[in-house]
Amino acid sequence: MVLNKMPEKLVWMFEEVDTIKMSSNELKLTFGGKGAGLVEMTKMGLPVPEGFIIPCRFSLYYAENKKWPEGLKEQVLEAVRKLEQKSGRKFGDITKPLLVSVRSGAPESMPGMMDTVLNLGLSRKIVEKMVTSNPRFAWDSWRRFIMAYADIVMGTGRDKFDKIMDAYKAKKGKKLDVELTADELKEISEQFLVEYKRLLNADFPENWEVQLEAAINAVFMSWDSERAVAYRKMNKIPNYGTAVNIMRMVFGNMNDKSGTGVLFTRNPSDGEKRIMGEFLVNAQGEDVVAGVRTPTNLEDLKTQKPALATAIYDLAHKLENNYKDMQDCEFTVEDGKLYFLQTRSGKRTAASAVKVAVDMLHEGLIDEKTAVTRVAPEKVEELLHKRISPKEKKKPITKGYNASPGAVTGKAIFDCKKAIELKKKNEKIVLVRKETKPEDFPGMVASVGILTSRGGKTCHAAVVARGIGLPAVVGAGELEIDEEEGIAKYPGGSFKDGDIVSIDGLNGAVYLGEVETIQPEIAGEFAEYLKLCDKYRRLGVRANADTPEMAASAIKNGAEGIGLCRTERMFNAKDRLPKVQKMILSETQADREAALNELRPLQKGDFKGIFKAMNGKPVTIRLLDPPLHEFLPNYKNMLVEYTELRVNGVENDRKKELEFVIKKYEELQEQNAMLGHRGVRLGLTNPEIYRMQVGALIEALIESEKEGIDVQLEIMLPLVAHVNEFKRLTDMLKPYAAELLKAQNYTPKHPVKWGTMIEVPRACLTAEAIGREADFFSFGTNDLTQATFAFSRDDVEGKFLLKYIDEIKPPIMVDNPFEHLDVDGVGRLIQITVADGRKGRADTHKGERLKIGICGETGGDPQSIMFLHKADLDYVSCSPFRVPVARVAAAHAAIAAAQKM
Ligand code: PEP
Ligand code: MG
Repeated sequence: MVLNKMPEKLVWMFEEVDTIKMSSNELKLTFGGKGAGLVEMTKMGLPVPEGFIIPCRFSLYYAENKKWPEGLKEQVLEAVRKLEQKSGRKFGDITKPLLVSVRSGAPESMPGMMDTVLNLGLSRKIVEKMVTSNPRFAWDSWRRFIMAYADIVMGTGRDKFDKIMDAYKAKKGKKLDVELTADELKEISEQFLVEYKRLLNADFPENWEVQLEAAINAVFMSWDSERAVAYRKMNKIPNYGTAVNIMRMVFGNMNDKSGTGVLFTRNPSDGEKRIMGEFLVNAQGEDVVAGVRTPTNLEDLKTQKPALATAIYDLAHKLENNYKDMQDCEFTVEDGKLYFLQTRSGKRTAASAVKVAVDMLHEGLIDEKTAVTRVAPEKVEELLHKRISPKEKKKPITKGYNASPGAVTGKAIFDCKKAIELKKKNEKIVLVRKETKPEDFPGMVASVGILTSRGGKTCHAAVVARGIGLPAVVGAGELEIDEEEGIAKYPGGSFKDGDIVSIDGLNGAVYLGEVETIQPEIAGEFAEYLKLCDKYRRLGVRANADTPEMAASAIKNGAEGIGLCRTERMFNAKDRLPKVQKMILSETQADREAALNELRPLQKGDFKGIFKAMNGKPVTIRLLDPPLHEFLPNYKNMLVEYTELRVNGVENDRKKELEFVIKKYEELQEQNAMLGHRGVRLGLTNPEIYRMQVGALIEALIESEKEGIDVQLEIMLPLVAHVNEFKRLTDMLKPYAAELLKAQNYTPKHPVKWGTMIEVPRACLTAEAIGREADFFSFGTNDLTQATFAFSRDDVEGKFLLKYIDEIKPPIMVDNPFEHLDVDGVGRLIQITVADGRKGRADTHKGERLKIGICGETGGDPQSIMFLHKADLDYVSCSPFRVPVARVAAAHAAIAAAQKM
């Protein structure tokens, strides 16, 4: 007996998808963002051309098996039959031909990274019939289709076809495509067919089934194209696969009552609540995105075609209200009838994201938590970008559209390959192009900024730059760019390949040479948004700051304390170093004490400055950490100088001094200095150093408090591996501190806390014992990562680590563990430490919770913060500059964790 099992549904008409049963996230993961939008718009009753979707997973299947899964072909053909029925058109039919677009669409938007084929289904016979009613449109569609099919489906590239077109236009003395007549377009398509045969050694396929299958495969494969892979990597987009959307074509290039456009429901640059977009009469979508012709502003369309503009605005509002987020839409008008072809959440700058989130919260469209999650933590960094100082006297040489904010200076480079090469040499590049195309993406990523002479705010360069937070000025129309010659002319001058230029993506200005820049401020909606984040986050956010200036900028950025002050940074100051060296080189205890006594008041002054800046907030001061030889002069330089003196037979005091210092250096130097005589090991063998520092701290505390400053001092011992290291040192230092306080008959407002940096795996594994003794822990994930992997933190990135991530296939690891916390190794140690350390503290301190933070690099990384929140840390500490990023990331982490519960 044969069981009649219903075959699994593989292909879906837009209206067949049940949007109620699936969350919007599931919809996107299954059908891609574009597909999900089409399904939703169809459900909402918007004018959407009929079509069907092949879900994302089949592109992954195709990549692996190089064939379609069983049943897919039949279901595609079945969907085609339904499409024919619904549209009243038929593939291959001469009088009512069905023509479709075949478009990619991934779960996360990857603008311009994958492929699209338009006008599929055209054949010479159909075109010849179409000619009877609209000859220009017929031949224009035909030549577009031949070129797109050759380029995208057959992989020939479009250069050869562009050249034919350009040569033809030149011969006829015409500048724009729209100036070409029907007969001329016919001639061009004849030439295209000849070129097709020459390039591919085959006739152009006229059969729709052949075309459709090949186009679907091309879209499948475009998921793994070089530029798509680079974009995914950069944006950490998982390997979802792309859906394929097959939709009836509507023609924006049919006549002058037709056209195509794009819009954002709010301003994607600054978030202003105003629909902005562009419309191009008698054109297809690619013409707008490519930025080749300058389109009409939608504002102007209101006066030019008021009925059409009203219809577009109405639907745009409807979509924004439905999604409760700023939408980026594509629409087409065919012979006066408006269709929406796409809607998705609009890519936006951080400034725009913040304003839209805060505005939508005020408008009652979204709640507070949603508002918080509307701004990606990494994006916030954009708001901390430099701007050009108002004091800058230099006048811009020209202006373009302010496509993506940030002020940058770099070498003007006109070629993407060259940009990539120079980036490898750490050069800063401003990529200068007429316009950018998707294949320019790797060159764009290698640059610090983008400058183009063509295109509007929604052109490829603008969309991509905003997406990756790259400053960009586009459509600087006064620039006459010759990419081959590497020269750009502007009214009154020119610059060439390699010249220094600056651009300001905030206002669109272009400058020759360098410009003075300033840091941005936290004010207005940004301040409001950060406050909202503070309401929802549970992790505290502190800063790593070594000077009063750094402490002040940390406070400005919202830091709630200092999580790490590296005192050795004070030792390196110009006026200190000679005294530190004197201390290291002293031969007797008395000499050493004398040198330390000179340092003590200087350190006290530093500490007072920091206490003052942090008034009322906790300050963690770490006692000296690095090995002593790091403070001595450069060994190689000393040897060279000494050798010269010896070779020249010079006998003087300098030679004697060098002899002595070199000897001392060699005594102190170690094979593995990072695993050597540093941190508490140094404190135990040279206790006078830590005594000096603790003395300076206590004196600074007393004096500061007497001056009305609220001091919350936490003293941190670095590199503890064994509880006895911590115990012996605190046994010595705590009574010393008490003695100093007693001598002045002073009781601090807040008791001084004593804790340790957890940066050695043994400390993690014995955290319970250390927790019994310490008031706080702070993870030093720089050293902890080094020690856990046995990766030298100073060498590994330049040697093999990046190869592990980028070159070896499949990669050994996905992320750099010094940048993003290694959850499986270091993260596991952190979990053990938190549990055991807190147990130890609770045992000895009546159930009190051990305070735990992190001050390694990963403390400012949003991805790591997700984990650190779950690991139940109390605070993260990062560079002052990243504090706002951490505040946002911590709020995201708290909201995500609450949603999972
Ligand atoms: C660490 O090791 O993570 C740390 C913060 O200390 P340093 O980078 O100074 O070694
Ligand atoms: Mg360390």
